[in-house]
Amino acid sequence: MVAKRLLFAWSLFSLFLTGCHSDKNGGTGTKGSDVAALLKQNPAVKPVVVIGGGVAGLTAANYLLQANIPCLLLEGSKPGGALAQSDSVRNWPGVFEAPGLTIMGSLKDQVSRNGATILPASLTEITKDQHVFNLRIRDDAGNEQKIQALTCIVAMGAEPNYLGIPGESGPNGYWGRGVSNCAVCDGALFKDKNVAVVGGGDSAILEAAYLAGLAKQVHVLVRRDVLRAHDTRKVAMVQALPNVKFMRDVAVVAVHGDGQVVTSIDVLNNKTKAVTSIDIEGLFLAIGATPNTKLFARLVELDAFGYIILRKGQESSVSGLFAAGDICDPLTKQAVTSSAMGCKAALEAKEYLEHLGYIPVAQVQQDEKGADARKELNKEKKEDGDGVVEITSIEHAQKILSSGERKLVVVDVYGTFCMPCQKMAPVVEAVAKQYKNVQFAKLNIADRSISIDAFAHMINTTEIMQVPTFLFIKNGKVVERRIGMMSQEVFAKLIDKNK
Ligand code: NDP
Repeated sequence: MVAKRLLFAWSLFSLFLTGCHSDKNGGTGTKGSDVAALLKQNPAVKPVVVIGGGVAGLTAANYLLQANIPCLLLEGSKPGGALAQSDSVRNWPGVFEAPGLTIMGSLKDQVSRNGATILPASLTEITKDQHVFNLRIRDDAGNEQKIQALTCIVAMGAEPNYLGIPGESGPNGYWGRGVSNCAVCDGALFKDKNVAVVGGGDSAILEAAYLAGLAKQVHVLVRRDVLRAHDTRKVAMVQALPNVKFMRDVAVVAVHGDGQVVTSIDVLNNKTKAVTSIDIEGLFLAIGATPNTKLFARLVELDAFGYIILRKGQESSVSGLFAAGDICDPLTKQAVTSSAMGCKAALEAKEYLEHLGYIPVAQVQQDEKGADARKELNKEKKEDGDGVVEITSIEHAQKILSSGERKLVVVDVYGTFCMPCQKMAPVVEAVAKQYKNVQFAKLNIADRSISIDAFAHMINTTEIMQVPTFLFIKNGKVVERRIGMMSQEVFAKLIDKNK
């Protein structure tokens, strides 16, 4: 039924376009009749594709859907975007304080209830023919698909930068085993330990402030003798903390460890050229970001730092391609401004489509889609049994482990803002449904009511330095320990092996 209506809407669109004017870009671009012919040949062309599942992309999708424009959203490899990485957001309108994941969860819920098609896929290629954007996308399983769209809203954010020094990452590096770029994600693992933050910008100051509340000593390593941070009040506050030490004119040149975790770093004094070793267990990088614009280098104009240059409102140098959020904003990088840009991009895309002669699909179709989405959500909720139990205290953990005597207990140690953890959650749920005789539990490292060290001590295992970590426990002892993501099949094999 929905499909038939959609076809009808597209036919109407095609008919309307036949008599339509040239586009708003001065007549050199799309002609209504050309678009009509194209749509006749290929009714699968989308009016708009939103690329990015962060706050900018989801807001854009919401505004498009409110205007009855069907919306396909590519969620990318980091659903929820940068905001989902923050454990405490205090500047989102109307919310006193909430984890970023909670805010993004409700935004995504709203968008899917409004009828968006959200694909867990990433863009791999984008070009524009005379009239239409050609997108190639790939999902997590590696399946590729081609999509065509009349307009795109690009909201793919920016990636944090890396130092590129020995020991930082790679097969012998300590990425995820002491080296991190997210204090709020991993800071809880470094309670009462010595850590270092690299960078002198506002992010470094925020990271240092967060870590100072957990770690024994925080070294802030700045490569020049001046800080780049603008928030002087926060800088003064962090400088005054007794467990924070600033070192200026220094560069981290190597990360060392014991094969398992970080133990020290080598720090070069840029003036004297002396290298000193500092004993630390955690190294947090806060050295700026690179916008995710590699795929757009040949298509749109970028600035010297790779950010998309906006020509008019949110429109890029290519007509019909709009940008929103950190990908076109080197300065503000706030959730609220990203959201506002998403809204503007959607309204401008709507106007662009109207100039092409686009007729939004009937409200009834949106209602049907929304109802379908709601049905799906309710179905999920009903099926969502209590297969994976959240551990809430050390006593609770003890109870779960003792009830599982002679039975295998699998504990998923996770962080709410860790993307691999989020991706593994449905895998764990699915496997839990498969193995009724195995006890599944999960432990949030940021839950302050249970100490991760106390839990590790209770099951007589070594420190847990990375999330997600999966512990397979039998008779109170860890019989298998796995770090990182794995497929449902591999997970099931590990259970078969140990049960
Ligand atoms: P910035 O680009 O502002 O700062 C990056 C810092 O890292 C600089 O001190 C830079 O040094 C240093 N750096 C870069 N590369 C290296 C390297 N290879 N080795 C050592 N140090 C390096 O990035 P931020 O992420 O801090 O901030 C980005 C934007 O977001 C800024 O505009 C900032 O104001 C804003 N922001 C605002 C916040 C707020 O609450 N208002 C919070 C966080 C960010 P150098 O100065 O020498 O280049």
